[in-house]
Amino acid sequence: MATTTDVKPVPATLTNDEILRYSRHLIMPEVGMEGQQKLKAARVLCIGAGGLGSPLALYLTAAGVGTLGVVDFDVVDYTNLQRQIIHSTADVGRKKLDSAAEKLKGINPFLHLRTFEIKLTSANALELFREFDVVADGTDNFPTRYLVNDACVLTGKPNVYGSIFRFEGQASVFATEQGPCYRCLYPEPPPPGLVPSCAEGGVLGILPGLVGVLQATEVLKLILGIGDPLIGRLLLIDSLGMKFRELKLRKNPECPACGTHPTITKLIDYNEFCGIRGEEKPVEAGIPEMQVEELKRRLDAGEDVFILDVREPHEYQICNLGGHLIPLGDLPKRINELDTSREIVAHCKMGGRSAKAAQFLRQAGFTKVKNLTGGITAWADRIDRTMPKY
Ligand SMILES: [Zn+2]
Repeated sequence: MATTTDVKPVPATLTNDEILRYSRHLIMPEVGMEGQQKLKAARVLCIGAGGLGSPLALYLTAAGVGTLGVVDFDVVDYTNLQRQIIHSTADVGRKKLDSAAEKLKGINPFLHLRTFEIKLTSANALELFREFDVVADGTDNFPTRYLVNDACVLTGKPNVYGSIFRFEGQASVFATEQGPCYRCLYPEPPPPGLVPSCAEGGVLGILPGLVGVLQATEVLKLILGIGDPLIGRLLLIDSLGMKFRELKLRKNPECPACGTHPTITKLIDYNEFCGIRGEEKPVEAGIPEMQVEELKRRLDAGEDVFILDVREPHEYQICNLGGHLIPLGDLPKRINELDTSREIVAHCKMGGRSAKAAQFLRQAGFTKVKNLTGGITAWADRIDRTMPKY
């Protein structure tokens, strides 16, 4: 297993420097010397160094958690900076782990940081989780979320859960001995493609901060053994209404992971379980494609090509090819705006929605419709480098 440091026994006694650093903890009897020593002895594993992982890792490090593991194999992307505050502009292109390690060491040199540049899988999760006391889930996809949950149930580690989408978030503490797990709430994942990701649906920049700090709070409370943890409660966060609601959750005796007769006794193939085969993008069969270079050449030659943009109006405002805008969802009722005799090139941001649009149009009798491969993003990459990307 790739790790930058080996496990060292962490002495739980505090040096004078540490006592001064954590004085605002030490003067509260609910934490005190004993609590701070518990924090120092604690080992927390953070899955992901992205939106949720940023505040989680930053605050747990500052608060004096002794050993922090971070799992990530991603590289900092320019579009991460809007919310992944552990990374800065100069870090774009760097490994997230390198960028995060630098910030965390800067905040607290007493931290024993363990970085794992791996993709969490069924083959490595159990071994990894056994070396930690608490797992904080900062993942953004269903296969990993179910994997983290099941591995927490199997290893008996609390799963401090958070998720975010657009303006809303959720948080809870799963897989404790008495409490429910994620599968008690959602035994099966949603059908693939039904729930958009943050990359598709967007997310307000502060939201991972809000939810990640809630997760960090729960981690500290679990270690200190104080307060009322979010066990058996699902906190629902609505940032636009600024409302926090909670749902009572019960442990489901029929739960396939933590029920009385569990069917999940070892980790499974989570991509298959979530209906995702491999990493490839679904390509609609039989839809002719057009490359951006060909479209450019034909437009320059003055040929009659009708560009159909199936994105949303707010995306059109960011950048467009001057195409006719009909959002994918409106296409069935606005199909009369299109001419079956003309050659139509459908495009969206990346090519996924427009492939669906092209397929729909072909079924509706439009024989001369093509999908622009890679969407307007490919145009910005290969034809017009001044066009903004999003
Ligand atoms: Zn369960």
